[in-house]
Parts: sequence; C-alpha cells; structure tokens
Amino acid sequence: MFKKILIANRGEIACRVAETARRLGVLTVAVYSDADAQAQHVRACDEAVHIGGNAAKDSYLQWQRILDAARATGAQAVHPGYGFLSENEAFARACAEAGVVFIGPPASAIAAMGSKSAAKSLMEQAGVPLVPGYHGDNNEPAFLQAQAERIGFPVLIKASAGGGGRGMRRVDKAEDFLAALASCQREAKASFGDDHVLVERYVTKPRHIEIQVFGDTQGDCVYLFERDCSVQRRHQKVLEEAPAPGMSEVRRAEMGAAAVAAAKAVGYVGAGTVEFIAEEVGDGDLRFYFMEMNTRLQVEHPVTEAITGHDLVEWQLRVASGEPLPAKQDDLKIHGHAIEARICAENPDANFLPATGTLQVLRWPAHVGFRRNADAERFHEPATVRVDAGVREGDAISPFYDSMVAKLIVWGADRAQALARLDSALRDTHIVGLHTNVAFLRRVVASRSFATADLDTALIERERPVLFDAPGLPLPVAAAGVMAQALAAETALESADPWSRRDGWRIHGGARRRFDLELGKTHHVATMERLHDGALRLGLGGEFWPFSAQALGHDRYDVTLGRERHTLAVYLRGERVAVFGAHGSLELQEFDPIAHAGDAAGTGGRLTAPMPGKVIAFLAKAGDVVEAGQPLAVMEAMKMEHTITAPRAGTVAELMYAVGDQVAEGGELLRLSE
Ligand code: ADP
Ligand code: ADP
Ligand code: MG
Repeated sequence: MFKKILIANRGEIACRVAETARRLGVLTVAVYSDADAQAQHVRACDEAVHIGGNAAKDSYLQWQRILDAARATGAQAVHPGYGFLSENEAFARACAEAGVVFIGPPASAIAAMGSKSAAKSLMEQAGVPLVPGYHGDNNEPAFLQAQAERIGFPVLIKASAGGGGRGMRRVDKAEDFLAALASCQREAKASFGDDHVLVERYVTKPRHIEIQVFGDTQGDCVYLFERDCSVQRRHQKVLEEAPAPGMSEVRRAEMGAAAVAAAKAVGYVGAGTVEFIAEEVGDGDLRFYFMEMNTRLQVEHPVTEAITGHDLVEWQLRVASGEPLPAKQDDLKIHGHAIEARICAENPDANFLPATGTLQVLRWPAHVGFRRNADAERFHEPATVRVDAGVREGDAISPFYDSMVAKLIVWGADRAQALARLDSALRDTHIVGLHTNVAFLRRVVASRSFATADLDTALIERERPVLFDAPGLPLPVAAAGVMAQALAAETALESADPWSRRDGWRIHGGARRRFDLELGKTHHVATMERLHDGALRLGLGGEFWPFSAQALGHDRYDVTLGRERHTLAVYLRGERVAVFGAHGSLELQEFDPIAHAGDAAGTGGRLTAPMPGKVIAFLAKAGDVVEAGQPLAVMEAMKMEHTITAPRAGTVAELMYAVGDQVAEGGELLRLSE
C-alpha cells in the first residue's frame, strides 16, 4: 500500500477519498485553487499545495503543477477523483513518466474509451450490443442526414468527445436535422475542442442502467452489479439507485458479463462504469445497448458501496498498488437497496439555473460519514444515511466549479424502506442562503412514477405538474415559526437578566406585536397578541389562530397553531428567515420599506447575466433588429448552458462583452434600443 497519495480534485470527492486513505493509514496531499484556500478538502488532508487561480484551467487542470506538487511532497500516487483530470489520457501518461502511480486505468484504456464513436466500434467487435446508429468518421452534414433517415427519427446527435450531458441534440423530424447538427457541433467544439459527432436512434422511454466494473493488474475483472440512473434533468443524473428495480437475475448476469467483456477489451484496471441504455420490451423485460464507458470512479458509486458493503476507494488504492481485487465475483452479493440524491446549488423552478452564494445554514440529517465495513459480510449495522459533502456551514458556492454540493445516500432493507428514509433525510436537510434542489428532490422521490419505480429518463418531464412551482410551507405556519423564534430570542434575553421576572412573555412593553413579512414581492402583516388570560393569538390576513410555542433547542420549535401542531426549524440570518416544516419550507424577508423605494425602476434596455458565467456565443450583433423572446446570447456556468432571450422587441445597440469573457452576476451583456 502507498504511504502517501495526492488527491487531484476538490469538493466532496476529495474529502471522500481522504477519508478512506486516512482509515487505511495513507497520508494525503490536497491541491487547491485561490477560491478553495479555506475549503473543506484542504482541511481533510494532511498537507496541501496551492496550484493556481480559480478557473479549473488555471488550477485543477494544471497537471504539470499537480505532478510537481506530488514530487515535492513525496506522494507516490495521484487519485484524480471524477471530472477534471480523471479521464485525461495525457495526464495518466505523464504520471507514468514521472514515476507517480495514476490511480485509474492505463492511459491506453482511457484513450480507447475517450471517444464515444471509437468506443462503440471497439464494443461492436467485443460483441457488446449497441444502439443502432452511425459512429464512423464521415461527418459530412448531408451524409449524416442520410444516416439519420436510415436509422429513423427520432435520432440523437452526440458529440463523440461529449460528457456531463452536453453536446447532445434530439431531432424529431428530418427538416430539423441540419440545424440541430450545427448547434451540436458548435457546442461540442466549444466544450470539448472537437466537433466530431455520432448519430444514433433515440430510444423512447429509455432507462439508464450502468454496471460498475473493477479490474486488477493480475488480469481479473469483476462487476459490482448495476445502478439505475434514469432520473435525469438535461441528461444529467438526479437520483441514482441500486439495484435497478425490475432487473432479473438473468439480465443482470448478462449485462455484467457484457460490461466485463467491454472492460477486458481495453485491458481495464481499476474502477470503471459501463453505461447502457435499456428499453422495456414486453413482459417488463429489458433490452440493453452499450452507451459509453466512464473510465473513473463515478459520482454515484456510494449506492454500490451501500449494497455490497465494499469501499470502492479502498479497492482503487489496493489495485493501484498492485494488490489483487479484494473479492471474487462469487463473493459479491447484493444486500438491500440504496438511493443517492445529488444536492445541487440550483433553482429547479428556473430551468435548473445554477446558484451561487453563501451556505448560511447547512444542516444534515443524522448520519455517518460513510460505511466503513470493508468486509462484505458485516451487515449487522448498516449505515442508513450517509452524507458525502465537501462544504461546511458558512462556505461559499462559487461560480467556478460544479453546482453539486453534496450527496445524500440512504440504505434500506428494501426499496420502500430506502424511499421512506430518503424522504425523511431530505426533510431534515436544511440549506439557507442560496437556491438548492432539496425540496424538488423530495417531490421527485414522492412522485407516483418514482414511488412505483416507473423509471425512465422522461420521469421528470412526465411528473412536471407535481414537481415545479410547488407551494412551500403555508404562510400562517411560517409566520408562526417566525414568531416562535422571536419569542424565544426575547425570552433568552430576559433570562440572561437576573432581575427580570420569568412569568411569561412581554412584548416590548405592549400586548401586540407586528411583523412585516415579505414573501416573494408580496408584503404581509402578521400580528401576535397576548389575550387577557395570557394566551397568545396569531393574526394574518384577517384570520386569527390560538398560538403557542416552545423552543426545543438547535433552532427547533414546537408550535401550536389553532388545532395544528408543527415542529419547525427556524433560521434567522440578517433579514432573512427560513422556516422548515415536515411538509416544506418557506423563506421570508423581514420587510424593509426603504429597500422598496426603487422597485419600479425596471431594467429598460439593459440585458444582464442571470448568473455569473462565461459568454459562449452572441446570437445577434449590434444593429440587428430582434423580436421579443429571440435568443440573443448563450452563457455557460457550472457546466450548463443558458440562453438569454430578448425581453422585448428592439434593435441591438451594443454588445458589452466578447465571446469567452467571464461575466459577473447582473453584469450587462448587451443593450437594446427601441
Ligand atoms: P456521472 O459520474 O454520474 O456520470 P456526470 O455525468 O454528472 O456524473 O459527470 C461526471 C463527472 O464528469 C463530473 O465530475 C463532471 O465534472 C465531469 N464532467 C462533466 N462534464 C465534463 C466535461 N465536459 N469534460 C470533462 N469532464 C466533465
Ligand atoms: P454523457 O457523456 O453526457 O454521460 P451519455 O452518452 O452517457 O452522455 O448519455 C447521457 C444520457 O443521455 C443518458 O443517460 C440518457 O438519458 C440519454 N441518452 C443517451 N443516448 C440515448 C439514446 N440513444 N436514446 C435516448 N436517450 C439517450
Ligand atoms: Mg454518460
């Protein structure tokens, strides 16, 4: 085993790798950018080396500096995590040349699977089933169009070098093909520096089922079963679970064998994932096709750990140091069911727009760090909730990296139990300070499709009515929370004063207190009154409820409102109050009349960036006459593209930035004149 490794990554995965290394007695070296100087992953490691500026290309992708850091600190191996350099063939080669072990597959295997087109050709030879399509070299638009017509619409155009759900276009009719091809190639060129594409049949109602494989340097290769990652938004995974519901033993063994064949075809060593797209054919049986192989540890690997009891990072370290696989195929068994939810800084109601800001409140459900039992037989005390996070309360989510801030993983004896545990774990996840998808995830989990395991990649679209713009906590309940908090704060002040009487609540010398609350753009007045008998009454919008509250500690309150009783968590941060209940949360602002003076000003002809990001393209130039709703610019932030459209008709007066520029949130992108 290694004595010291360098972790060439950040965030939750760097912390997660460090945790296993520590358990195995392996010292760790972190690397960090300017923005990450105080980050959790830096503290999680024994040593840390600064490697550059905020943008990934100036730090986490600077592999020369990372190798220098490995040499300077005496690290024997580099763990690349996922993303960044994990699938970079040149880096894997450079490590080998520098005498540092790359904890991952041989560079040749990365190269072989790096292009989706080339990988498909290889798999074809290995006898792995493929989606019908064209993955050859000819990228002439007319030729590809003819191929699409041969395959039959709908088709999917995919960037060969694509990843992270980008560089894909679904085309439903022949007349849309050329435009979609051009836009796909533009995105592929900009994101991956390579505009080669493939065309394949668009599988309708597909499931994404992937197989975890592991190879060692002795030539052995096993599969650790499957994960179902069908719940996606914009082709990116949202929830992942293992095992895949409805998977038969026969199909599992068949897919496992196909995945192992894929890995063996490229001399695979270490952790890898073979992704398949599966479609249901009569009787609920599945037909599956190879999609791509990811030559790294996957974000969703914890669900596999939860059902097998094996620590995959430990396996990676052992295999990379030359040891044989810790288990044989026959030793591997599935225990129970696990689901992972990706917690992201984003606003689902605004088309998943990434969010940045400070994690003013970050509270997790009761959990353990992660399962420690490397022994697959030890399931007496399964870890039922695991949180993999790379952030702490008070940390900022910057625009420079991925929007995924943490993962919540639950384990249950069966799927129903795992579902119930995920629901309560999400209920107890409280984040304040920026938009997150926590409430959205909870609705997805509760949706009929997910609850009944009616899984396919269109699940979110199908369940749209119950997933988006859902009401939060009812306003009177939230107001009760605000009052409970105010009450407790005053009682605390009072009890700190030995001279004060403790015979109940006094409202700043009066018997009625007014709370000016703002929800969205609406102003509400709530009142709390003390009646003659000492009881309290809450008023809102002309209605009144008997009210009482008791502080439970740790920002939690037991509140009675009329006949209802609620346990609420209330967080007051500056003027912002966030109230979390069992069925939802609500964020209110203490109303400040002065801040409202300028509300009606409007933005006139200015068009501003909705989030910090990079300008990818301007779709209009100065002098162009544009219509309302016409796309004007494309921005990219946190791996996602966003199109900015004209708020009204007009003429483009001026572009304020150039393609490739970084723009701050609210930065003026272009000006429209009448
Ligand atoms: P999964 O591991 O489940 O496939 P994702 O598809 O979301 O998860 O992405 C996995 C990793 O691939 C992420 O860490 C992400 O940073 C990385 N990734 C996403 N897009 C790209 C890209 N364009 N180039 C290189 N890596 C990428
Ligand atoms: P990435 O590199 O971004 O992970 P993949 O090729 O793995 O790209 O595909 C990502 C997702 O796109 C899949 O999980 C699936 O939802 C969808 N997808 C890919 N290929 C097809 C297809 N042929 N038909 C329908 N959906 C597809
Ligand atoms: Mg994929």
